[in-house]
Amino acid sequence: MGQNGAETENLQRKARFIYETLLEHYGEPRFEGCDDPVDELIATILSANTNDANSGRAFEQLKARFNGDWDAVRTAPLDAIKEAIRPAGMYNQKAPAIVAALERIKADWGGYDLRPLAQKPVEEALAYLTSLPGVGHKTASIVILFCFNGAAFPVDTHIQRISQRTGVSSRRADAYKIKRIWESLIEPSAFYALHINLIRHGRRVCQALTPRCELCPLQPACDYYQGAGEWASSPTTSK
Ligand code: SF4
Repeated sequence: MGQNGAETENLQRKARFIYETLLEHYGEPRFEGCDDPVDELIATILSANTNDANSGRAFEQLKARFNGDWDAVRTAPLDAIKEAIRPAGMYNQKAPAIVAALERIKADWGGYDLRPLAQKPVEEALAYLTSLPGVGHKTASIVILFCFNGAAFPVDTHIQRISQRTGVSSRRADAYKIKRIWESLIEPSAFYALHINLIRHGRRVCQALTPRCELCPLQPACDYYQGAGEWASSPTTSK
């Protein structure tokens, strides 16, 4: 086996260890699906740079203010949308982004039903969703994974950080690169549980400022903890 083959095998072993260890630690999250892909899309746009409670409140207010009618949101004065989504923050950016996305969906589909996307190949659905204004690969992958149980792995800031520290990715890999790495290492049926459990782990243990390594079951597979790979003799490594 060549060097690249051995590296790939090591990485696969590490990825599997992380997946299985987090499953043991946090359990298997139940896949519940989503009610509606457009709802999921808008809720995810609202969730940027805020917590779940605030974005959830903004989403509920938006639905209530416009009676759940996306056409009413699309044609509403921007100020009314901003007011409704205020709890999510960044409403000056999020309101026009929501309207622009709804405009495109209406123009492309004649309404607000994205469920037919589930029948398309994942890469095609991803390309369509990321072509919508203000929709990046994380939001698109969330819709595909959470609504269609499709083979797209969304990478948020927690997953990015854990991937960099463990050495699943390089220290400077961006979220898109990390998405593609996990998709190449783990089978799609594991994406949902892995995504949820990595986020749990990032919130509770592998926290941004000070990782709680003393509590972490991923120690044996973690380059940061072991001072290995790109974290070898790093001045930022602390345990
Ligand atoms: S050992 Fe530390 S740095 Fe590594 S995954 Fe666990 S908490 Fe994060």
